[in-house]
Amino acid sequence: MKYIYFFSSTKTEGGAEMKNLLGGKGANLAEMAKIGLPVPPGFTITTQACNDYFEIGSKFPNGLWEEVEESLRRLEKETGKKFGDPENPLLVSVRSGAPVSMPGMMDTVLNLGLNDKTVAGMIKLTNNPRFVFDAYRRLIQMFGSVVLRVEAERFEKALQDFKRKKGVRLDTELTANDWADISQRFKEIIKKEKGREFPQEPYLQLRLAIQAVFDSWNNKRAIDYRKFHRIPDDLGTAVNIVTMVFGNMGTDSGTGVAFTRDPATGEKRLFGEYLLNAQGEDVVAGIRTPQKIEKLKEEMPSVYEKLLEISQKLEKHYRDVQDIEFTIEKGKLWMLQTRTAKRTPQAAVKIAVDLVQEGLIDKEEAILRIKPQDLEKILHPIIDPQAQVRIIAKGLNASPGASSGLVCFDADLAEEWAESGKEVILVRPETNPDDVHGMMRAKGILTQHGGVTSHAAVVARGLGKPAVTGCEALNIDLAAKKFTVGEVEVKEGEEITINGSTGEVILGRVPMLEPEITKELQELLAWADEIRKLGVWANADNPKDAKKALDYGAEGIGLCRTEHMFFEKGRREIVVKMIMAENDEQRQSYLNLLLPVQRKDFEEIFEVMEGKPVIIRLIDPPMHEFLPKKEMLIEEVARLRAEGKSEELTEKEKILEVVENLWEINPMLGLRGCRTGIIFPQISAMQVRAIFEAACNLAQKGKKVFPKVELPLVSHINELKLEKQRLEKVAQEVMKEKGIKIDYEFGTMIELPRAALTADKIAQFAQFFSFGTNDLTQTTYGISRDDAEGKFLLKYIEEGILPENPFQVLDREGVGKLMEIAVSLGRKDNPDFEIGICGEHGGDPSSIEFCHQLGLDYVSCSPFRVPIARLAAAQAALKNRGVN
Ligand code: PEP
Ligand code: MG
Repeated sequence: MKYIYFFSSTKTEGGAEMKNLLGGKGANLAEMAKIGLPVPPGFTITTQACNDYFEIGSKFPNGLWEEVEESLRRLEKETGKKFGDPENPLLVSVRSGAPVSMPGMMDTVLNLGLNDKTVAGMIKLTNNPRFVFDAYRRLIQMFGSVVLRVEAERFEKALQDFKRKKGVRLDTELTANDWADISQRFKEIIKKEKGREFPQEPYLQLRLAIQAVFDSWNNKRAIDYRKFHRIPDDLGTAVNIVTMVFGNMGTDSGTGVAFTRDPATGEKRLFGEYLLNAQGEDVVAGIRTPQKIEKLKEEMPSVYEKLLEISQKLEKHYRDVQDIEFTIEKGKLWMLQTRTAKRTPQAAVKIAVDLVQEGLIDKEEAILRIKPQDLEKILHPIIDPQAQVRIIAKGLNASPGASSGLVCFDADLAEEWAESGKEVILVRPETNPDDVHGMMRAKGILTQHGGVTSHAAVVARGLGKPAVTGCEALNIDLAAKKFTVGEVEVKEGEEITINGSTGEVILGRVPMLEPEITKELQELLAWADEIRKLGVWANADNPKDAKKALDYGAEGIGLCRTEHMFFEKGRREIVVKMIMAENDEQRQSYLNLLLPVQRKDFEEIFEVMEGKPVIIRLIDPPMHEFLPKKEMLIEEVARLRAEGKSEELTEKEKILEVVENLWEINPMLGLRGCRTGIIFPQISAMQVRAIFEAACNLAQKGKKVFPKVELPLVSHINELKLEKQRLEKVAQEVMKEKGIKIDYEFGTMIELPRAALTADKIAQFAQFFSFGTNDLTQTTYGISRDDAEGKFLLKYIEEGILPENPFQVLDREGVGKLMEIAVSLGRKDNPDFEIGICGEHGGDPSSIEFCHQLGLDYVSCSPFRVPIARLAAAQAALKNRGVN
């Protein structure tokens, strides 16, 4: 078993492709050495060694120590120094480095090899006793806390006490003698705390340090981090033993970190900071303020040039932006680390597109590099950065996006306010399943308690709404219907804004900016369009959404839910009367009032869509949803009776009677969908008339239109047959009246298992299918979404009974199977038969991939998800082509 891989300018055994064995840091050090970059020589102990160490009960596996000794000898040869030699000592660092980055989770020890004797040699060599004693105390301090597990605080306190007594404030004010003194004190602390001496023997220092780094793989911090990020426990950490180079040897030395491009914007420029006369941890510790990297150009022009050259070489080599660590020792630049740079979603897009233009990667790779979830972050409305805002508190950024609304402390009230057209922010100490109906209607959610995996956070993310959780600064007084933060008091009904991307809570309403589609994003999406096979349409119920969808690249409207038009103010009253009508004549008179209103809706949408397909779904929800709530009516009737207001009373009693008549035990499975049109044919006839009148009116003006009429919730072919026969007659009638013929289609949603299983029959009477996977998931699982989501379904997911929320990520095994059957039956006689999806899954990347595999024609999703769907569809096409 080979446990160690060596790297230096003369011999390198590892490389970037060996991340699993050498860890990220070790693999990249080897890679840099291989391509001729200045890396201090060293060697990496493999993750295998770490795993074997644990396997045999925290002992060095056979042969490991011998390999360490042998590698040290080689290092001595490379550097011309000797480990433990008082004349010319070799010093090394010992650093952890797992296969996946776990920043700051595991341990590091620097300056190993220093002891009372080598200190003297170093002083002679460097002529810099201050530097040497500072290095020595750092070793004792780090070794003491990391390896011997003395509380780090103890050393910090001793240093502070020393400085206080001396009357100095900064480390830089301490002299060589001071550091020598402090080293002595640190040794005494170790003795006192652990009853043992700080080991003087360099080989013992090294052995203990390696062991400590192995052990740090299983410290609590690291275990928690792995659990949170779902990193397997059996990866193990590698250990890198690297020749020390010093950034603290004077003002011709320094240390820094840099990104080869700006990780916030993606701009192509070296971005970073450095400190002269300092060691790596000084930059991170924030004791001294580092300089911007541009300044290095003035202070050390040739080093800066070299750094720039190396950064460009690294980008070319890795074909991606790098995050690097470097040290300058007496004017010479050394590279200590490189890794793929983390970046903001905005930067990710710009970088990917720029790299294509620079010829470093191809379009396919650029597309595969962007996570669809990242686009989601870019596409939320943001608070106008120019706006003056008053931030009153900060909690956890639990679900991205920003929104303003009226503070509301109660879920029922939130629902009521939202239904009357108000925008609300639901504010709760914490949320529970009883609040879900209010959360669904709220614009945003703010809680005092709970983390980023609390009920509020999980539900909000599922709903795609902004949320700030765990905002402990809030003092919520539910009884008094207010919250206070310090001096500020906010009452129910007052406006606030929350920023779920930053966790900020802001007083009042603030101006928002629509998300911007940058030219790079447009470019990337245009490439995605060339690659994808799936069409991308949008669900839009009004001209504004239709316009937004078009701007985002939608190629049609896959679902226009007409009932949303009925809910609007001024219309709902007519709808209520229409439902309550005592006979057909009366009903028709109200429908006649609705006709011009619906016609105008459709005209506007058709106009925006300029001849692109628009699927208009006839009315879907149960009628009682348009009527007042039964409990409310009962209360009102009782009150009116008591007050003796007879006229109003009769009216309300009548409504109550209708509501009671329409009441269903199981409305989700009751009189809804196409069943409504079958039982009340005048309603669907009015809708179809409005669609065709609108289309013909526009066509007469020379505009292009393409209406596609769709029936919801069909389960039996006879429903479709009957409705189609009736409604086509209306369509023909209108076209005759208008004296113009237009292209149109009749089709159906597939959202019930029976429809999927008999899709061959249905396809004979439909010109297209669209999967309504919201209802198809409900009916396949027999789970009512409104009753389950955020309630028992959350528990199901928490406990792993279901892997994911099937209403968010399509259940391929069950619902997907029905879709597969429907596709193959539906296309039995006509392989070109059009099939799409308009359930919410149409905007989910994993579900989109499945739709690609099924060979659907398009996915339809909410307008703001259209860019995500374009990207996800291209990724699906690439992955299924075998490009990964
Ligand atoms: C569906 O069921 O998937 C669908 C799109 O219809 P709705 O969400 O309106 O029920
Ligand atoms: Mg449905």
